[in-house]
Amino acid sequence: MLQTITHYFLHFFFIGAIAYWYDKNNWKKYWLLLLATMLVDLDHLLATPIFSPGRCSIGFHLLHSEYVIPLYFLGAVFIKHKIIRLIMIGLAFHMITDFIDCLWMLSKCEACSAAEVFEGLF
Ligand SMILES: [Zn+2]
Repeated sequence: MLQTITHYFLHFFFIGAIAYWYDKNNWKKYWLLLLATMLVDLDHLLATPIFSPGRCSIGFHLLHSEYVIPLYFLGAVFIKHKIIRLIMIGLAFHMITDFIDCLWMLSKCEACSAAEVFEGLF
């Protein structure tokens, strides 16, 4: 329960704080833009089943893979275009949020190994 609340709090509300930090005058607009970065989860539609409660997204889904995640972080740091950089910040933060969820899953599961939780990475 706490895990779910934390996950959705970070995905939907904490990004409002990021938007405020990014630009106090346009934070509502930027919050909507950060909410739109949730579209990265559309890659789940390629998986079977589409939703699986115990599955770690990191390393499993195409746009959550170890090949593209570094690009989000690099983009968040190096891209100068204000809007595109915010999108990259949103995507990087999304990955952090999903990663926290995976660590939480791992901590709750006594019998499983990191390799089982992060199945896509190993
Ligand atoms: Zn995700």
